[in-house]
Amino acid sequence: MTTRIFTPGLIILFWICTAKSEMAQNTASDGGNVLHSVPFNQVNIDDAFWNPRLKAHAQTTLQVCISQMRDSTKRISNFEKAAGLKKGKHEGIYFDDSDVYKAMEGIAYSLVNNYNAEYEKLLDYWIDLVAKSQQPDGYLNTYYTLSYPDERWTDMEKHEMYCGGHMIEAAVAHYRATGKKTFLDVAVKFADYVDATFGPGKRHWVTGHEEIELALVKLYNVTQNRKYLNLAHWLLEERGHGHGKGAIWEHPKLGPEYCQDDVPVSEITDIKGHAVRAMYLFTGMADAASEKKIPEYVEALNRVWEDVAERNMYITGGIGSSRTNEGFTEDYDLPNKTAYCETCASIGMVFWNNRMNMLSGDAKYADILERSLYNGVLSGVSLEGDLFFYVNPLESDGSHHRQRWFGCACCPSNISRFIPSVGNYIYVKGENEILVNLYMGNETTVEIGRTEIKLTQKTDYPWDGKINLEVNPSEATTFSLKMRIPGWCRSFKISVNGEIGTTPEVKNGYAVIERKWASGDVVELTLDMPVELVAAHPRVTENTGKRAVRRGPVVYCMEATDNKNIGFDEAILDQSMVFLPEEAKGKLKGMTLLNAVSEQNKFTFVPYFSWANREPGKMKTWIDYERGNPLYINKP
Ligand SMILES: [Zn+2]
Repeated sequence: MTTRIFTPGLIILFWICTAKSEMAQNTASDGGNVLHSVPFNQVNIDDAFWNPRLKAHAQTTLQVCISQMRDSTKRISNFEKAAGLKKGKHEGIYFDDSDVYKAMEGIAYSLVNNYNAEYEKLLDYWIDLVAKSQQPDGYLNTYYTLSYPDERWTDMEKHEMYCGGHMIEAAVAHYRATGKKTFLDVAVKFADYVDATFGPGKRHWVTGHEEIELALVKLYNVTQNRKYLNLAHWLLEERGHGHGKGAIWEHPKLGPEYCQDDVPVSEITDIKGHAVRAMYLFTGMADAASEKKIPEYVEALNRVWEDVAERNMYITGGIGSSRTNEGFTEDYDLPNKTAYCETCASIGMVFWNNRMNMLSGDAKYADILERSLYNGVLSGVSLEGDLFFYVNPLESDGSHHRQRWFGCACCPSNISRFIPSVGNYIYVKGENEILVNLYMGNETTVEIGRTEIKLTQKTDYPWDGKINLEVNPSEATTFSLKMRIPGWCRSFKISVNGEIGTTPEVKNGYAVIERKWASGDVVELTLDMPVELVAAHPRVTENTGKRAVRRGPVVYCMEATDNKNIGFDEAILDQSMVFLPEEAKGKLKGMTLLNAVSEQNKFTFVPYFSWANREPGKMKTWIDYERGNPLYINKP
């Protein structure tokens, strides 16, 4: 990293809880989607920020997951039993199969950026176990197969389709990463079985935990077999008509709202229930809407997106404030210490906002994707990749620690598949345009018409706002390159081949450069990235009189370990403070820390995602703020 000098102390205040991008006016349109992501297997990441994350993932997170699946818990053992290699009943939780599939998906993705022959061999062995666990009719679930073979499909909460969905996603990832069809064949057989069992004129089904809907659209995308897309659409349409049966529906405190089965999906107005379920549902709806052109889905998604982004989201992009339902309560109820903010829910925010961005071409969705990614998601795993958060509070009294594993291990296994798939979210392409959504060092080749465009991105983002993008078409060709100007960015400079011409038009949050691109063209974008003090919406009473610190996409927090010489609980930011950046040493090396300095005080802030990696202790994100004499505040 280069040494950087910042203009310190530029402080801007604005209301947050929303992520309104001033430049982005459009909302998702009528489902006339022509945008597709450039998938991870076409993107090679080489980036100062992400390389260590990907390396920690490949070397440590996957090892942790593999050893938990195979050695410390009975997850692989269940498959060995179902495959007939040993005898016995199912052990563990009824949805444990899904963790194995998510780890398999993670291994498949990691083969692209960190190839490892051992991992590929292990994956082949696990695929073989899964294939042998599949019943002759295509059914696949070790819990029912081993313990309750006669009770398949009797309780819609029991995650049979959820596990199946994760299996399909893993199979699609494996196929894309290796070109091998061994796993995909299992997925197709299972999906054919589900399609033969459920659907119009067959059985009703409401998925108690959504997931298979988005997975079936992925399966449609690789097989081009439209029946999988139709099945996904049918499953979405099953919701909200009273077909739900089982533990959720009978539970006195949960009920259909918990799994978004209270109203038909087209009529959704507010965010309700379990956060992860909601995210997977909306992702599936957006996928179906994009492929089948369903305007009423797009309208419902626009409504509920506004409800999430403006009234129910933390500054970290985390969602779901309540432990009781792992989900939502009422608008603006965003407590800090007891925030639930499940890691999986932040991952779900990335999925959903990615789809909303592709539906609309609007950068405001990529802004939230970025916010959740750099804060809510990354906080879910330690820097070394070996310890995890399930719950991501914005404040801690020192008792919240990362853990090696959890009984319900959805979050570590979700991290294991999400981190190496980050390449999926950098570029989106249309017929005659390339949208650059994330800034990280990478190389990819995108086809526009019949022309191959090689893109090479170099940057020190998120610590620095300079981005260098080399555009190398195989022959000179005209198309629009759209560089996202993040909602947090108030000013930027852009040049092509060193020439700063007229600033390009910013449309839907993107600086649009349309020209005939020739080999060797270079775009340089500089996003100004001052430190900002952010105020919460006045109705978030928890944060009255407080401010959060943010620079670029990174939200900062205070940890006790860096602030031993002050009264941590009494720390007050005041208007005279200036923010001086400092390159971190030790465990946080490579990161930019911020020192808030006044004549009397010095507070040190670290990136929120990096907290709880050193000496355990208190942490807070929202800090008391002294605005001077309050009598002067509202003086006309
Ligand atoms: Zn989780």
